[in-house]
Amino acid sequence: MSELTGNRIRTTAAKLGLPHLAETINEFTRRADEAKMGYLNFLDLVLSEELAIRDDRRFRTGLRISRLPHHKTLDEYDFSFQPELDPRKVKDLATLSFVEAKSNAALLGPPGVGKTHIAVALAVAACRAGYSIYFTSLDDMVRNLKAAEAAGRLTNKLGSYLRPSVLVVDEVGYQPLERAEANLVFQVISKRYEKGSIILTSNKTFSEWGQVFGDEVLATAILDRLLHHCEMISINGPSYRLKNRLKAIERDTNVA
Ligand code: ADP
Ligand code: MG
Repeated sequence: MSELTGNRIRTTAAKLGLPHLAETINEFTRRADEAKMGYLNFLDLVLSEELAIRDDRRFRTGLRISRLPHHKTLDEYDFSFQPELDPRKVKDLATLSFVEAKSNAALLGPPGVGKTHIAVALAVAACRAGYSIYFTSLDDMVRNLKAAEAAGRLTNKLGSYLRPSVLVVDEVGYQPLERAEANLVFQVISKRYEKGSIILTSNKTFSEWGQVFGDEVLATAILDRLLHHCEMISINGPSYRLKNRLKAIERDTNVA
């Protein structure tokens, strides 16, 4: 390949937004020579590598702006620790058909059973599949919306919770809300209804949501929209956080 052609390809690739090709044209042609690649295979290689690199960059940027607290996956979740949880239910969710359908997923159960872990794992999978993600605790969301409302910027702030394809709302029910706060939550839920998925975690059963939202009517209105299209997973089992502590206690009692 002449230097002139090489330079022209570099410039054109950069203009077309193909940075990988622009950077590695010599490497590509060397590989093509070595493998005695046909034209179609060569084109296929160049395009698929460019796409893979673009996808990977988008995935990493997506993760960065998602505010996920960590990036744990389902492979890191030990299903044998929660025998009452059917792994198939979780793995079905991981196919992300609920995200495609713009429906919701709720993970319910006591502390430490891995609700946030699974919610994050689903969000990471959705991010890899190209969906935009935003993670918040319910309390942070309410606090931010209240502050924005006081500053006359509610519509703008609501956008942060409405734009992402998947909104993860963690820890619903840890703190009871006042009516005005519950009303802000209602705005998010009702505006996302059938437009974008919500993955939520809660330590409360839905029947206890009336107390959380301080108003049965509002709680019912929120639940109505949330549950119309919602996959539900209840995890009733021991806390993983206490796992090692319990083992230690068991060991000590056996010795004694
Ligand atoms: P929850 O949100 O239900 O309170 P978390 O998802 O925060 O619980 O889990 C607490 C910790 O235990 C996290 O570090 C999580 O990764 C881990 N964990 C929980 N359940 C499991 C499990 N079955 N296998 C592996 N790690 C787990
Ligand atoms: Mg949690």
